[in-house]
Amino acid sequence: MLPLIFRALSPAGVSAKLNIFIFHRVLPQPDPMLPFEPSAEQFNWMARFIARNFNVLTLSEAARRIQNGTLPAAAAVITFDDGYADNLEVAWPILNRYGIPATFFIATSFLDGGRMWNDEIIEAVRNAEAGQFDLSKFSLGAYTLTDTVSRVRTYETILGKLKYFEHVKRTQIAREIAFLNHVPGQSELMMTSTELKQLHAAGAEIGAHTQTHPILELLDDDKAFAEIEAGKIELESILGEAINVFAYPNGVPGKDCSVRHGEMVKKLGFQAAVTTEQACASASSKIFHLPRFTPWDRTPLRFAARSILHIRSSRH
Ligand SMILES: [Zn+2]
Repeated sequence: MLPLIFRALSPAGVSAKLNIFIFHRVLPQPDPMLPFEPSAEQFNWMARFIARNFNVLTLSEAARRIQNGTLPAAAAVITFDDGYADNLEVAWPILNRYGIPATFFIATSFLDGGRMWNDEIIEAVRNAEAGQFDLSKFSLGAYTLTDTVSRVRTYETILGKLKYFEHVKRTQIAREIAFLNHVPGQSELMMTSTELKQLHAAGAEIGAHTQTHPILELLDDDKAFAEIEAGKIELESILGEAINVFAYPNGVPGKDCSVRHGEMVKKLGFQAAVTTEQACASASSKIFHLPRFTPWDRTPLRFAARSILHIRSSRH
């Protein structure tokens, strides 16, 4: 039996609330350069907390049940974005330990040795020598690197500036900065196609996340459609199965994705899609714009408190 608080806040049926959690990575060991990503130890208590307090579903099942009013009490979905190799190696065994499902959104062009632009920058800043880190020729500012805290602050600032650069330019600049700081072009950061097949065969739900992870709102509609479609087709060809759920890259409604992209997702045959709007989903949510929630608290008590506040604040 689930604890009363979550059942009371989120009853079964037509007035049910749906908590969709977003994760990206689960680190085998804590990495001071990645203070916002949970370690295996932290994810272990998060997964245990979620398993004890929520009825965890895959996104496609939750989407079906939110529409026909049959969500269980305290319904939740665990999602992972992008396709990091640690999702299979570290997160999946922990999810299995607690018997809870998860949905993994994969940007296909980074499978088999790729690295996303944000990770290019993080690794460049990690590798850079202490002292001046001057990116003014890329219009990205100049920084002084000292300790790890200064490096984290520096890459956060750079990522914030570079995020809304034109998509191809963003990729090229990130690669050049990485190259200048001896970050190799190939990496084992993301899953291989074989690992993705293993994750799928083990029972994970796989969803699409475009091909090259552009901010869709910055693309013209033809390119946006092609990105969403290519990601779906590539996953279907790897896995030999229809891909039914989608996550918008970056995912802030009105800024990164819009109603137009929801129409595209629907036209391509997806059954549901998720944004990064911070809210609980409910029967009144749009099925192609379901909100999600990033659980960033790093202590069990704060994590529990935030989960309760999150559901309470979504009662409307
Ligand atoms: Zn993503």
